[in-house]
Amino acid sequence: MNAHDSEKVVGTLLAEGYTQVDEPELAELVLYNTCSIRDKAEQKVFHRLQQFKREAGKGKVFGVLGCVAQQEGERIFERAPHVSLVAGSASYTRLPEMLVQLEAGNRRVTGLGLDTEEAFDTPYTRRDNPHRAYITIIEGCDKSCAYCVVPFTRGPERSRTSESVMREARSLAELGYTEIQLLGQNVNSYRDPSAQGWDFATLLAKTAEISGIRRVRFTTSHPRDFVKPIIDAIDGNPVLCNHVHLPVQSGSRAVLKRMQRLYTRDEYMRRIEWMKNARRDIAITTDIIVGFPGETEADFDETVRLCEQIEYESMFIFKYSRRPNTPALEYGDHIPEEEKTRRFLILQERQRAIQIRRNSTYVGRIEEVHVEGFNLATEQWIGRTTQHKTLNFSDPAFPAPSQNGTLVGQYTNVLVTRSGPNSLAGERVKAQ
Ligand code: SF4
Repeated sequence: MNAHDSEKVVGTLLAEGYTQVDEPELAELVLYNTCSIRDKAEQKVFHRLQQFKREAGKGKVFGVLGCVAQQEGERIFERAPHVSLVAGSASYTRLPEMLVQLEAGNRRVTGLGLDTEEAFDTPYTRRDNPHRAYITIIEGCDKSCAYCVVPFTRGPERSRTSESVMREARSLAELGYTEIQLLGQNVNSYRDPSAQGWDFATLLAKTAEISGIRRVRFTTSHPRDFVKPIIDAIDGNPVLCNHVHLPVQSGSRAVLKRMQRLYTRDEYMRRIEWMKNARRDIAITTDIIVGFPGETEADFDETVRLCEQIEYESMFIFKYSRRPNTPALEYGDHIPEEEKTRRFLILQERQRAIQIRRNSTYVGRIEEVHVEGFNLATEQWIGRTTQHKTLNFSDPAFPAPSQNGTLVGQYTNVLVTRSGPNSLAGERVKAQ
């Protein structure tokens, strides 16, 4: 979502007459789009802010956007006095107006309101990828997981109208984009605010019908709002990628409750069962937090057991990180850093074994990939399967990009010949 926010901010600035430069040294306006989901990311922002500090006297203007901006607010001016603009994502619709204030010589401008009704819906997105495009369909979050800053930094949940989402998706197809990714903190909590009243499964099915769109992805889903019609939609249309990222966070019933995740382990497993029983082979991936306050060895074992039972295709593992304003901060029994690291490494090793096993089952299969690039070092094309697996491949008839063209952006079939823990490799084959 942050990457896409940056695309929208760049698009908005270009429409205001700004030009983008390749190096920050050349810029007159430097904006840092920030993340505060973990403490480390936040510290990095203040470190980076020091980088060009001396340039402030030479007329360079600095701004901080995103979640650290929202969380720290005017304190940023104290910690980094050379910064002139501080704005959270809920205020991006006001960016042009804030920039006018800066150009008028205003020294300090802020956009920190969270009471917006609007999603950041701008016609001025400058997309980084010419083939795959992000579309935000819902912003903010109304849940209150005990460890998470998002409800404080991105404001309340607000969905775009289905008409506005469909208009954007159709115009992307007309521009030649073939893959779209629907985005939201809780993408499947989408509720069309217009009279049409589509739910998420309906929106998914409708976007998959747009002529020219070959793949539709979505991220991130919240287990509580993950309903069976979403699986039925995936089963019903191969344009919808058979990959679901469903963050479980913990396999322990007690920890899930303390995390205030709003689902039980059994409810989560029911959703996994729907996916495992689907007609299509759905790849399931997840996020896990290890070392949440009060997580016992037995709780952690339950997480490991759940992961081994489900056999996720991949996962992001995070060590619990204390975040300001969150309920978990007040919990007792914080787990020592070394213990968090130990649990992290155990889970990482188990998951690596699962991935080696899962990926080996792809050897001998023919998979369609969307070609994303070419790796000069390995002299292989880089493709992505519908299940979101990286599949590197060679093609003797088209060994590299040349003046005759490129495979990047194309869809092609690849025979998987090898597998590793994080990717697959193979040879391009003629269409079957
Ligand atoms: S659902 Fe929970 S983890 Fe996800 S953004 Fe909302 S509060 Fe954070």
